[in-house]
Amino acid sequence: MRTYAAIVVIQLALFGRTMVSGQGRKPLVISDITVIGMTGGPSLPHYSLLIENHRIAGIGPAHDFISPANAQVVDGRGKFLIPGLWDMHTHIAGLAADPAWSRESLLPLLLAHGVTGVRDMGGELDALKLWEQARREGTLVGPRLYFAGPLIDGGSRGSNPHATTPENARAIVRDLKKRGAQFIKVLSNLDPQVFSALADESKIQGLDIVGHVPTGVALRDAVAAGFKSIEHLTGLAFAFSSRGDELRLALIKAAKPFDAQAVASVSEQVESTYDERQAQRVARELRESGTWMTPTLVWSKVNAEPDSFMADDPLLEYVPPSVRKEWNPDSLRKNISPADRRAAAREFEDHIRYVRVLHDAHVNFLAGSDALDPFVFPGGTLHQELELLVRAGFSPLEALETATKNPARFMKRDADFGAIEVGKLADLVLLDADPLGDIANVRRVAAIVLDGRYLARAELDRMLGEARAAAARWAPAAR
Ligand SMILES: [Zn+2]
Repeated sequence: MRTYAAIVVIQLALFGRTMVSGQGRKPLVISDITVIGMTGGPSLPHYSLLIENHRIAGIGPAHDFISPANAQVVDGRGKFLIPGLWDMHTHIAGLAADPAWSRESLLPLLLAHGVTGVRDMGGELDALKLWEQARREGTLVGPRLYFAGPLIDGGSRGSNPHATTPENARAIVRDLKKRGAQFIKVLSNLDPQVFSALADESKIQGLDIVGHVPTGVALRDAVAAGFKSIEHLTGLAFAFSSRGDELRLALIKAAKPFDAQAVASVSEQVESTYDERQAQRVARELRESGTWMTPTLVWSKVNAEPDSFMADDPLLEYVPPSVRKEWNPDSLRKNISPADRRAAAREFEDHIRYVRVLHDAHVNFLAGSDALDPFVFPGGTLHQELELLVRAGFSPLEALETATKNPARFMKRDADFGAIEVGKLADLVLLDADPLGDIANVRRVAAIVLDGRYLARAELDRMLGEARAAAARWAPAAR
Protein backbone atom coordinates (compact mmCIF):
# COMPACT_ATOMS: atom_id res chain seq x y z
CA MET A 1 0.00 0.00 0.00
CA ARG A 2 1.48 3.31 -1.02
CA THR A 3 0.89 6.29 1.24
CA TYR A 4 0.52 9.79 -0.09
CA ALA A 5 2.11 12.31 2.25
CA ALA A 6 1.01 15.17 0.09
CA ILE A 7 -0.95 15.75 -3.03
CA VAL A 8 0.03 13.53 -5.90
CA VAL A 9 -0.92 14.99 -9.20
CA ILE A 10 0.36 13.24 -12.24
CA GLN A 11 -0.18 15.08 -15.45
CA LEU A 12 -1.47 12.42 -17.74
CA ALA A 13 0.59 13.21 -20.79
CA LEU A 14 1.15 9.47 -20.84
CA PHE A 15 -2.44 8.84 -21.68
CA GLY A 16 -2.48 10.42 -25.09
CA ARG A 17 -5.35 8.17 -26.10
CA THR A 18 -7.91 10.32 -24.26
CA MET A 19 -10.79 11.33 -26.41
CA VAL A 20 -11.50 14.74 -27.82
CA SER A 21 -14.92 14.98 -26.16
CA GLY A 22 -13.44 15.18 -22.67
CA GLN A 23 -10.53 17.49 -23.41
CA GLY A 24 -12.47 20.70 -22.84
CA ARG A 25 -13.96 19.50 -19.58
CA LYS A 26 -12.90 21.10 -16.30
CA PRO A 27 -10.92 18.98 -13.83
CA LEU A 28 -13.17 17.33 -11.24
CA VAL A 29 -12.32 17.01 -7.55
CA ILE A 30 -14.34 14.83 -5.18
CA SER A 31 -13.28 15.92 -1.72
CA ASP A 32 -13.22 14.18 1.63
CA ILE A 33 -14.63 10.77 0.80
CA THR A 34 -13.86 7.26 1.98
CA VAL A 35 -12.11 5.56 -0.92
CA ILE A 36 -12.79 1.83 -1.29
CA GLY A 37 -10.17 1.38 -3.96
CA MET A 38 -10.25 -2.42 -4.55
CA THR A 39 -6.45 -2.29 -4.58
CA GLY A 40 -5.87 -4.77 -1.78
CA GLY A 41 -5.36 -2.05 0.84
CA PRO A 42 -7.75 -0.79 3.51
CA SER A 43 -10.47 1.81 2.94
CA LEU A 44 -9.06 5.36 2.97
CA PRO A 45 -11.25 7.75 4.97
CA HIS A 46 -10.98 11.52 4.40
CA TYR A 47 -9.31 11.27 1.01
CA SER A 48 -9.81 13.42 -2.07
CA LEU A 49 -9.61 12.54 -5.74
CA LEU A 50 -8.71 14.56 -8.84
CA ILE A 51 -10.04 13.56 -12.25
CA GLU A 52 -8.71 15.02 -15.49
CA ASN A 53 -9.23 13.97 -19.09
CA HIS A 54 -11.31 10.89 -18.26
CA ARG A 55 -8.78 9.51 -15.80
CA ILE A 56 -7.92 9.59 -12.13
CA ALA A 57 -5.07 12.07 -11.94
CA GLY A 58 -4.49 12.39 -8.20
CA ILE A 59 -5.48 10.90 -4.90
CA GLY A 60 -4.46 11.95 -1.40
CA PRO A 61 -5.53 12.92 2.12
CA ALA A 62 -8.23 15.58 2.06
CA HIS A 63 -6.61 17.91 4.62
CA ASP A 64 -3.78 18.99 2.35
CA PHE A 65 -5.23 18.19 -1.06
CA ILE A 66 -4.80 21.10 -3.41
CA SER A 67 -7.47 21.38 -6.10
CA PRO A 68 -6.64 23.05 -9.41
CA ALA A 69 -8.10 26.58 -9.47
CA ASN A 70 -10.50 25.81 -12.32
CA ALA A 71 -11.76 22.48 -10.92
CA GLN A 72 -15.38 21.52 -10.31
CA VAL A 73 -15.31 20.49 -6.64
CA VAL A 74 -17.86 18.05 -5.21
CA ASP A 75 -18.11 17.80 -1.43
CA GLY A 76 -18.12 14.08 -0.65
CA ARG A 77 -18.17 14.23 3.15
CA GLY A 78 -19.74 11.12 4.68
CA LYS A 79 -19.79 9.29 1.36
CA PHE A 80 -18.02 6.21 0.01
CA LEU A 81 -16.38 5.87 -3.39
CA ILE A 82 -16.14 2.55 -5.26
CA PRO A 83 -15.12 1.74 -8.84
CA GLY A 84 -17.96 1.68 -11.40
CA LEU A 85 -19.85 -1.61 -11.39
CA TRP A 86 -19.91 -4.07 -14.29
CA ASP A 87 -22.86 -6.37 -14.95
CA MET A 88 -21.15 -9.27 -16.71
CA HIS A 89 -24.29 -10.96 -18.03
CA THR A 90 -26.95 -8.83 -19.72
CA HIS A 91 -29.17 -8.94 -22.78
CA ILE A 92 -29.90 -5.26 -23.31
CA ALA A 93 -30.18 -5.42 -27.09
CA GLY A 94 -31.98 -8.73 -27.45
CA LEU A 95 -34.53 -11.06 -25.82
CA ALA A 96 -37.33 -8.73 -24.72
CA ALA A 97 -35.06 -5.70 -25.11
CA ASP A 98 -35.55 -4.45 -28.63
CA PRO A 99 -32.67 -2.02 -29.23
CA ALA A 100 -35.19 0.47 -30.63
CA TRP A 101 -36.36 1.25 -27.10
CA SER A 102 -33.82 -0.29 -24.75
CA ARG A 103 -31.15 2.29 -25.67
CA GLU A 104 -33.38 5.08 -24.35
CA SER A 105 -34.74 3.21 -21.34
CA LEU A 106 -32.29 0.58 -20.11
CA LEU A 107 -28.95 2.37 -20.46
CA PRO A 108 -30.06 5.17 -18.06
CA LEU A 109 -31.49 2.56 -15.70
CA LEU A 110 -28.11 0.82 -15.55
CA LEU A 111 -26.22 4.08 -14.95
CA ALA A 112 -28.60 5.18 -12.18
CA HIS A 113 -27.68 1.97 -10.34
CA GLY A 114 -23.96 2.60 -10.67
CA VAL A 115 -23.49 0.13 -13.53
CA THR A 116 -20.93 1.81 -15.79
CA GLY A 117 -20.08 -1.27 -17.85
CA VAL A 118 -21.81 -4.37 -19.14
CA ARG A 119 -20.83 -7.57 -20.86
CA ASP A 120 -23.72 -8.28 -23.18
CA MET A 121 -24.26 -12.00 -23.66
CA GLY A 122 -26.56 -12.08 -26.67
CA GLY A 123 -28.17 -9.29 -28.63
CA GLU A 124 -28.17 -7.43 -31.91
CA LEU A 125 -24.54 -6.98 -32.87
CA ASP A 126 -25.02 -3.94 -35.09
CA ALA A 127 -26.99 -2.07 -32.41
CA LEU A 128 -24.39 -2.83 -29.74
CA LYS A 129 -21.59 -1.70 -32.07
CA LEU A 130 -23.38 1.56 -32.84
CA TRP A 131 -24.05 2.26 -29.16
CA GLU A 132 -20.44 1.66 -28.20
CA GLN A 133 -19.23 3.89 -31.03
CA ALA A 134 -21.66 6.65 -30.01
CA ARG A 135 -20.52 6.32 -26.41
CA ARG A 136 -16.88 6.69 -27.45
CA GLU A 137 -17.71 9.73 -29.55
CA GLY A 138 -19.58 11.28 -26.62
CA THR A 139 -23.00 11.35 -28.29
CA LEU A 140 -24.46 8.59 -26.08
CA VAL A 141 -24.46 8.65 -22.28
CA GLY A 142 -24.34 4.98 -21.38
CA PRO A 143 -22.25 2.19 -19.88
CA ARG A 144 -19.19 0.76 -21.62
CA LEU A 145 -20.10 -2.27 -23.67
CA TYR A 146 -18.34 -5.58 -24.24
CA PHE A 147 -20.43 -7.88 -26.39
CA ALA A 148 -20.96 -11.18 -28.16
CA GLY A 149 -23.67 -10.19 -30.61
CA PRO A 150 -25.86 -13.21 -31.42
CA LEU A 151 -25.57 -16.32 -29.27
CA ILE A 152 -24.83 -19.56 -31.04
CA ASP A 153 -27.57 -22.15 -31.00
CA GLY A 154 -27.29 -25.84 -31.81
CA GLY A 155 -30.99 -26.08 -32.64
CA SER A 156 -32.79 -25.17 -35.81
CA ARG A 157 -35.37 -22.65 -34.65
CA GLY A 158 -35.19 -18.99 -33.67
CA SER A 159 -33.19 -16.15 -35.15
CA ASN A 160 -29.74 -16.97 -33.75
CA PRO A 161 -27.08 -18.58 -35.95
CA HIS A 162 -27.47 -22.35 -35.93
CA ALA A 163 -24.27 -24.31 -35.63
CA THR A 164 -25.27 -27.77 -36.79
CA THR A 165 -22.10 -29.02 -38.49
CA PRO A 166 -18.41 -28.47 -37.71
CA GLU A 167 -18.05 -26.61 -41.04
CA ASN A 168 -20.86 -24.14 -40.50
CA ALA A 169 -19.76 -23.65 -36.87
CA ARG A 170 -16.37 -22.47 -38.15
CA ALA A 171 -18.01 -20.25 -40.74
CA ILE A 172 -20.22 -18.64 -38.06
CA VAL A 173 -17.21 -17.83 -35.87
CA ARG A 174 -15.30 -16.30 -38.81
CA ASP A 175 -18.33 -14.25 -39.79
CA LEU A 176 -18.89 -12.96 -36.24
CA LYS A 177 -15.23 -12.02 -35.97
CA LYS A 178 -15.48 -10.08 -39.23
CA ARG A 179 -18.61 -8.32 -38.04
CA GLY A 180 -17.01 -7.16 -34.80
CA ALA A 181 -18.12 -9.64 -32.13
CA GLN A 182 -15.76 -9.45 -29.15
CA PHE A 183 -16.25 -13.04 -27.97
CA ILE A 184 -18.34 -16.12 -28.72
CA LYS A 185 -21.36 -17.09 -26.59
CA VAL A 186 -22.80 -20.60 -26.94
CA LEU A 187 -25.99 -22.33 -25.81
CA SER A 188 -26.15 -25.76 -24.22
CA ASN A 189 -27.70 -27.61 -27.18
CA LEU A 190 -24.54 -27.81 -29.30
CA ASP A 191 -23.48 -31.20 -30.54
CA PRO A 192 -20.03 -32.23 -29.13
CA GLN A 193 -18.32 -32.32 -32.56
CA VAL A 194 -19.82 -28.96 -33.44
CA PHE A 195 -18.69 -27.53 -30.11
CA SER A 196 -15.19 -28.83 -30.63
CA ALA A 197 -14.94 -27.17 -34.07
CA LEU A 198 -16.41 -23.96 -32.67
CA ALA A 199 -13.91 -23.89 -29.81
CA ASP A 200 -11.02 -24.56 -32.18
CA GLU A 201 -12.06 -21.86 -34.66
CA SER A 202 -12.60 -19.38 -31.81
CA LYS A 203 -9.03 -20.00 -30.73
CA ILE A 204 -7.79 -19.44 -34.29
CA GLN A 205 -9.77 -16.19 -34.51
CA GLY A 206 -8.56 -15.03 -31.07
CA LEU A 207 -12.03 -14.95 -29.54
CA ASP A 208 -12.91 -16.28 -26.08
CA ILE A 209 -15.69 -18.83 -25.90
CA VAL A 210 -18.18 -18.45 -23.05
CA GLY A 211 -21.75 -19.39 -22.19
CA HIS A 212 -23.73 -22.49 -21.35
CA VAL A 213 -21.66 -25.67 -21.18
CA PRO A 214 -23.21 -27.96 -23.83
CA THR A 215 -25.04 -30.88 -22.22
CA GLY A 216 -23.29 -33.20 -24.67
CA VAL A 217 -19.88 -32.12 -23.41
CA ALA A 218 -18.41 -33.00 -20.01
CA LEU A 219 -17.36 -29.96 -17.97
CA ARG A 220 -13.69 -31.09 -17.95
CA ASP A 221 -13.72 -31.35 -21.77
CA ALA A 222 -15.33 -27.91 -22.17
CA VAL A 223 -12.66 -26.45 -19.89
CA ALA A 224 -9.89 -28.28 -21.76
CA ALA A 225 -11.25 -26.82 -25.02
CA GLY A 226 -10.79 -23.32 -23.56
CA PHE A 227 -14.25 -22.48 -22.22
CA LYS A 228 -13.50 -19.20 -20.44
CA SER A 229 -16.60 -18.29 -18.46
CA ILE A 230 -19.39 -20.62 -17.41
CA GLU A 231 -22.81 -18.98 -17.13
CA HIS A 232 -25.64 -19.95 -14.76
CA LEU A 233 -23.45 -22.76 -13.33
CA THR A 234 -24.29 -24.89 -16.37
CA GLY A 235 -22.59 -28.28 -16.35
CA LEU A 236 -21.77 -28.09 -12.63
CA ALA A 237 -24.59 -30.35 -11.39
CA PHE A 238 -23.31 -33.20 -13.61
CA ALA A 239 -19.68 -32.56 -12.71
CA PHE A 240 -20.59 -32.70 -9.00
CA SER A 241 -22.63 -35.92 -9.36
CA SER A 242 -21.08 -39.36 -8.76
CA ARG A 243 -22.99 -40.57 -11.87
CA GLY A 244 -22.60 -37.36 -13.85
CA ASP A 245 -21.50 -38.68 -17.26
CA GLU A 246 -24.15 -41.38 -17.34
CA LEU A 247 -26.90 -38.95 -16.29
CA ARG A 248 -25.79 -36.34 -18.84
CA LEU A 249 -26.36 -38.84 -21.63
CA ALA A 250 -29.67 -39.90 -20.06
CA LEU A 251 -30.80 -36.27 -20.09
CA ILE A 252 -29.97 -35.87 -23.79
CA LYS A 253 -32.00 -38.99 -24.52
CA ALA A 254 -34.92 -37.73 -22.40
CA ALA A 255 -34.93 -34.43 -24.26
CA LYS A 256 -35.04 -35.89 -27.79
CA PRO A 257 -38.03 -36.15 -28.19
CA PHE A 258 -38.90 -34.19 -25.08
CA ASP A 259 -40.23 -36.36 -22.25
CA ALA A 260 -41.02 -34.16 -19.24
CA GLN A 261 -41.26 -37.04 -16.81
CA ALA A 262 -37.95 -38.56 -17.88
CA VAL A 263 -36.23 -35.16 -17.71
CA ALA A 264 -37.57 -34.61 -14.19
CA SER A 265 -36.45 -38.06 -13.12
CA VAL A 266 -32.90 -37.48 -14.43
CA SER A 267 -32.73 -34.10 -12.68
CA GLU A 268 -33.72 -35.69 -9.39
CA GLN A 269 -31.07 -38.36 -9.79
CA VAL A 270 -28.44 -35.73 -10.55
CA GLU A 271 -29.33 -33.98 -7.32
CA SER A 272 -29.43 -37.07 -5.16
CA THR A 273 -25.99 -38.17 -6.41
CA TYR A 274 -24.30 -34.87 -5.46
CA ASP A 275 -20.90 -35.77 -4.03
CA GLU A 276 -19.29 -33.14 -1.83
CA ARG A 277 -15.72 -34.54 -2.08
CA GLN A 278 -16.00 -34.69 -5.87
CA ALA A 279 -17.43 -31.15 -5.94
CA GLN A 280 -14.42 -29.90 -3.99
CA ARG A 281 -12.04 -31.65 -6.36
CA VAL A 282 -13.78 -30.22 -9.46
CA ALA A 283 -13.74 -26.77 -7.83
CA ARG A 284 -9.97 -27.03 -7.34
CA GLU A 285 -9.55 -28.00 -10.99
CA LEU A 286 -11.64 -24.99 -12.05
CA ARG A 287 -9.45 -22.78 -9.92
CA GLU A 288 -6.32 -24.24 -11.53
CA SER A 289 -7.63 -23.82 -15.07
CA GLY A 290 -8.54 -20.19 -14.35
CA THR A 291 -12.13 -20.74 -15.49
CA TRP A 292 -14.57 -17.96 -14.58
CA MET A 293 -18.04 -18.45 -13.09
CA THR A 294 -20.98 -16.13 -13.63
CA PRO A 295 -23.63 -17.82 -11.47
CA THR A 296 -26.47 -15.30 -12.12
CA LEU A 297 -28.04 -16.33 -8.80
CA VAL A 298 -30.53 -13.50 -9.06
CA TRP A 299 -31.87 -14.96 -12.30
CA SER A 300 -32.33 -18.37 -10.62
CA LYS A 301 -34.04 -16.68 -7.69
CA VAL A 302 -36.46 -14.70 -9.87
CA ASN A 303 -37.27 -17.93 -11.75
CA ALA A 304 -37.87 -19.74 -8.49
CA GLU A 305 -40.25 -17.10 -7.15
CA PRO A 306 -42.90 -16.38 -9.79
CA ASP A 307 -45.28 -15.38 -6.99
CA SER A 308 -43.19 -12.27 -6.47
CA PHE A 309 -44.02 -10.95 -9.98
CA MET A 310 -46.24 -7.90 -9.61
CA ALA A 311 -48.33 -6.25 -12.29
CA ASP A 312 -47.71 -2.92 -10.55
CA ASP A 313 -43.94 -3.34 -10.14
CA PRO A 314 -42.65 0.25 -10.52
CA LEU A 315 -39.76 -1.05 -12.64
CA LEU A 316 -42.24 -2.09 -15.33
CA GLU A 317 -42.33 1.60 -16.23
CA TYR A 318 -38.95 1.08 -17.88
CA VAL A 319 -40.30 -1.43 -20.42
CA PRO A 320 -42.79 -0.53 -23.16
CA PRO A 321 -46.47 -1.52 -22.95
CA SER A 322 -45.93 -4.34 -25.47
CA VAL A 323 -43.34 -6.02 -23.23
CA ARG A 324 -45.46 -5.35 -20.14
CA LYS A 325 -48.25 -7.29 -21.82
CA GLU A 326 -45.95 -10.28 -22.40
CA TRP A 327 -44.83 -10.07 -18.77
CA ASN A 328 -48.33 -10.36 -17.37
CA PRO A 329 -47.67 -12.07 -14.01
CA ASP A 330 -50.78 -14.26 -14.23
CA SER A 331 -50.01 -15.61 -17.69
CA LEU A 332 -46.32 -16.11 -16.81
CA ARG A 333 -47.38 -18.07 -13.71
CA LYS A 334 -49.91 -20.11 -15.66
CA ASN A 335 -47.12 -21.42 -17.90
CA ILE A 336 -45.16 -22.79 -14.95
CA SER A 337 -46.30 -26.20 -13.74
CA PRO A 338 -46.12 -27.05 -10.01
CA ALA A 339 -43.32 -29.51 -10.85
CA ASP A 340 -41.34 -26.79 -12.70
CA ARG A 341 -41.81 -24.51 -9.74
CA ARG A 342 -40.46 -27.08 -7.31
CA ALA A 343 -37.54 -27.81 -9.63
CA ALA A 344 -36.67 -24.11 -9.93
CA ALA A 345 -36.79 -23.64 -6.15
CA ARG A 346 -34.52 -26.66 -5.63
CA GLU A 347 -32.18 -25.46 -8.35
CA PHE A 348 -31.80 -22.08 -6.69
CA GLU A 349 -30.85 -23.69 -3.36
CA ASP A 350 -28.43 -26.05 -5.18
CA HIS A 351 -26.82 -23.07 -6.88
CA ILE A 352 -26.20 -21.32 -3.58
CA ARG A 353 -24.52 -24.53 -2.38
CA TYR A 354 -22.41 -24.85 -5.56
CA VAL A 355 -21.27 -21.22 -5.26
CA ARG A 356 -20.25 -21.89 -1.67
CA VAL A 357 -18.07 -24.86 -2.71
CA LEU A 358 -16.53 -22.95 -5.63
CA HIS A 359 -15.90 -19.89 -3.48
CA ASP A 360 -14.20 -22.02 -0.80
CA ALA A 361 -11.83 -23.26 -3.54
CA HIS A 362 -11.10 -19.65 -4.64
CA VAL A 363 -12.58 -20.03 -8.13
CA ASN A 364 -12.82 -16.78 -10.15
CA PHE A 365 -16.26 -15.16 -10.10
CA LEU A 366 -18.05 -12.50 -12.14
CA ALA A 367 -21.29 -10.77 -11.13
CA GLY A 368 -24.08 -10.99 -13.69
CA SER A 369 -27.84 -10.57 -13.62
CA ASP A 370 -29.14 -11.99 -16.93
CA ALA A 371 -31.27 -8.89 -17.43
CA LEU A 372 -33.52 -8.71 -19.46
CA ASP A 373 -35.38 -11.95 -18.79
CA PRO A 374 -38.92 -11.37 -17.45
CA PHE A 375 -38.77 -9.43 -14.19
CA VAL A 376 -34.96 -9.37 -14.23
CA PHE A 377 -34.63 -5.59 -14.46
CA PRO A 378 -31.19 -4.15 -15.26
CA GLY A 379 -29.39 -2.32 -12.47
CA GLY A 380 -31.10 -3.37 -9.24
CA THR A 381 -30.66 -7.05 -10.06
CA LEU A 382 -26.88 -6.61 -10.10
CA HIS A 383 -27.10 -5.26 -6.54
CA GLN A 384 -29.21 -8.30 -5.62
CA GLU A 385 -26.63 -10.59 -7.21
CA LEU A 386 -23.95 -9.12 -4.91
CA GLU A 387 -26.24 -9.68 -1.92
CA LEU A 388 -26.81 -13.29 -2.97
CA LEU A 389 -23.07 -13.88 -3.29
CA VAL A 390 -22.70 -12.67 0.30
CA ARG A 391 -25.47 -15.08 1.28
CA ALA A 392 -23.44 -17.86 -0.37
CA GLY A 393 -20.39 -17.07 1.74
CA PHE A 394 -18.59 -14.12 0.08
CA SER A 395 -17.43 -11.21 2.23
CA PRO A 396 -18.90 -7.87 1.06
CA LEU A 397 -15.44 -6.96 -0.30
CA GLU A 398 -15.21 -10.21 -2.29
CA ALA A 399 -18.71 -9.66 -3.65
CA LEU A 400 -17.75 -6.14 -4.73
CA GLU A 401 -14.67 -7.56 -6.49
CA THR A 402 -16.90 -9.68 -8.76
CA ALA A 403 -18.35 -6.48 -10.24
CA THR A 404 -15.19 -4.32 -10.30
CA LYS A 405 -11.72 -5.82 -10.14
CA ASN A 406 -12.65 -9.25 -11.52
CA PRO A 407 -14.41 -8.03 -14.69
CA ALA A 408 -11.36 -5.88 -15.44
CA ARG A 409 -9.06 -8.89 -15.02
CA PHE A 410 -11.38 -11.08 -17.06
CA MET A 411 -11.37 -8.61 -19.97
CA LYS A 412 -7.61 -7.99 -19.55
CA ARG A 413 -8.42 -4.33 -19.00
CA ASP A 414 -7.06 -4.02 -15.48
CA ALA A 415 -4.81 -1.15 -16.54
CA ASP A 416 -7.99 0.86 -17.17
CA PHE A 417 -10.75 -0.37 -14.85
CA GLY A 418 -11.66 -2.16 -11.70
CA ALA A 419 -9.84 -0.11 -9.07
CA ILE A 420 -9.42 3.47 -7.88
CA GLU A 421 -5.82 4.33 -8.70
CA VAL A 422 -3.98 7.11 -10.50
CA GLY A 423 -4.06 6.46 -14.25
CA LYS A 424 -7.27 4.42 -14.32
CA LEU A 425 -10.32 5.59 -16.25
CA ALA A 426 -12.70 7.53 -14.00
CA ASP A 427 -15.80 5.32 -13.82
CA LEU A 428 -16.86 5.63 -10.19
CA VAL A 429 -19.85 5.31 -7.89
CA LEU A 430 -20.44 7.54 -4.87
CA LEU A 431 -22.49 5.79 -2.17
CA ASP A 432 -24.33 7.21 0.85
CA ALA A 433 -23.23 4.35 3.11
CA ASP A 434 -20.41 1.82 3.44
CA PRO A 435 -20.92 -1.27 1.23
CA LEU A 436 -18.27 -3.14 3.21
CA GLY A 437 -20.43 -2.81 6.35
CA ASP A 438 -23.49 -4.03 4.48
CA ILE A 439 -23.38 -4.99 0.80
CA ALA A 440 -27.00 -3.75 0.45
CA ASN A 441 -25.54 -0.23 0.64
CA VAL A 442 -24.51 -0.54 -3.04
CA ARG A 443 -28.15 0.38 -3.66
CA ARG A 444 -27.60 3.83 -2.16
CA VAL A 445 -26.13 5.55 -5.22
CA ALA A 446 -25.56 9.27 -4.50
CA ALA A 447 -23.85 10.04 -7.82
CA ILE A 448 -21.67 8.44 -10.46
CA VAL A 449 -18.64 9.49 -12.45
CA LEU A 450 -18.85 8.20 -16.00
CA ASP A 451 -15.69 8.46 -18.06
CA GLY A 452 -14.67 11.47 -15.95
CA ARG A 453 -18.06 13.20 -16.03
CA TYR A 454 -19.92 13.80 -12.77
CA LEU A 455 -23.61 12.83 -12.79
CA ALA A 456 -25.31 13.90 -9.54
CA ARG A 457 -28.35 12.09 -8.15
CA ALA A 458 -30.64 14.84 -9.49
CA GLU A 459 -29.19 14.33 -12.99
CA LEU A 460 -29.59 10.54 -12.73
CA ASP A 461 -33.22 11.02 -11.61
CA ARG A 462 -33.85 13.34 -14.56
CA MET A 463 -32.44 10.68 -16.90
CA LEU A 464 -34.70 8.07 -15.29
CA GLY A 465 -37.73 10.28 -15.93
CA GLU A 466 -36.78 10.47 -19.61
CA ALA A 467 -36.18 6.71 -19.67
CA ARG A 468 -39.72 6.03 -18.39
CA ALA A 469 -41.22 8.48 -20.86
CA ALA A 470 -39.35 6.80 -23.73
CA ALA A 471 -40.62 3.36 -22.69
CA ALA A 472 -44.22 4.57 -22.40
CA ARG A 473 -44.03 6.17 -25.87
CA TRP A 474 -42.63 3.18 -27.68
CA ALA A 475 -44.82 0.78 -29.64
CA PRO A 476 -43.65 -1.93 -32.05
CA ALA A 477 -45.65 -0.36 -34.90
CA ALA A 478 -43.63 2.84 -34.57
CA ARG A 479 -40.48 1.13 -35.87
ZN1 LIG B 1 -28.25 -14.89 -20.57
